[in-house]
Amino acid sequence: MNPSASFAPDAPWRIDRSRLATLAPRPAHDWDIEIVDETGSTNADLIERLRAQPRDNAPADPHAPVVRVAYSQTSGRGRRGRAWLAEPGNALLMSVGYVLRRPIEGLSGLSLAIGVAVLDALARLPLSPSARPALKWPNDVLLDDGKLAGILIETAWTGPGATAVVIGIGINLHGAEHLAAQVDDANRQAASAVPGTAPASLARAWPGANLTDTLAALLNAIDAALPRFETEGFKPFRQRWTDAHAYAGREVVLLDQGQEITRGVASGVDDSGHLLIDAPEGPRAVATGELSLRLAKERP
Ligand code: ATP
Repeated sequence: MNPSASFAPDAPWRIDRSRLATLAPRPAHDWDIEIVDETGSTNADLIERLRAQPRDNAPADPHAPVVRVAYSQTSGRGRRGRAWLAEPGNALLMSVGYVLRRPIEGLSGLSLAIGVAVLDALARLPLSPSARPALKWPNDVLLDDGKLAGILIETAWTGPGATAVVIGIGINLHGAEHLAAQVDDANRQAASAVPGTAPASLARAWPGANLTDTLAALLNAIDAALPRFETEGFKPFRQRWTDAHAYAGREVVLLDQGQEITRGVASGVDDSGHLLIDAPEGPRAVATGELSLRLAKERP
């Protein structure tokens, strides 16, 4: 793709700010929302920004979130330094920076709660009725078994009464086949990647998928989820996460850098967002850590 053509000012996929304000009035009015053509990583940008601001370790009132959206990232990232790939116009790449009034120990389950928020957002978009978005522990949203969205939560700073978090969300809108080839290539080159779930895009369930409506739906869902998590943690999200659990009752393996560490039947998650597995040696609750989850049948 010709890079200058991909950023044409009149490209049809560009976000329409006035439509965004109509569809997501509160966030569009109250939050600082930046939209840029290209950056390294929207998460990295917001981490830097939150670190540069004065720290408020015990905020009396909630701070308004800050949002950064990029049409393209030159170093989009997943967990453990893995790459997150996207082409301009084909993906929504956004990060939300927020000073969450919880210490770092209180963030358990946040990436799962945001997964539930992404499902809420998808429920407000005109997907075909047969589409079944689902959640894969700990941080992926699947559509028909393909990876539709990734969630990456990082912290900018932590204090006794607050943690500045950056919530990165990447959602594929179009071009899943091309993306699959790119992901395969990237995984072949990266020793840390554990190949598994192929990419899916929203267009499969919504041929007219567009950035503006998708961003608006996400902003509204995050606007509802953040205060809820802030006061109650993961608990109120647990049932909805379980209802959308992609691998419920299936045999799974947990891998640490490609090495199998346990295998068993995935039964759900607990109130802290730990994955519950019925393993041959007994039930186990697994914390997020840096593990990868795969269906057992995908492994030799
Ligand atoms: P795992 O399932 O191993 O735990 P993960 O869910 O932690 O992986 P992330 O680190 O969040 O994965 O995302 C990076 C990985 O996702 C890459 O290694 C690549 O395999 C895959 N990937 C990269 N870009 C995309 C994309 N746009 N859509 C779907 N998958 C992608």
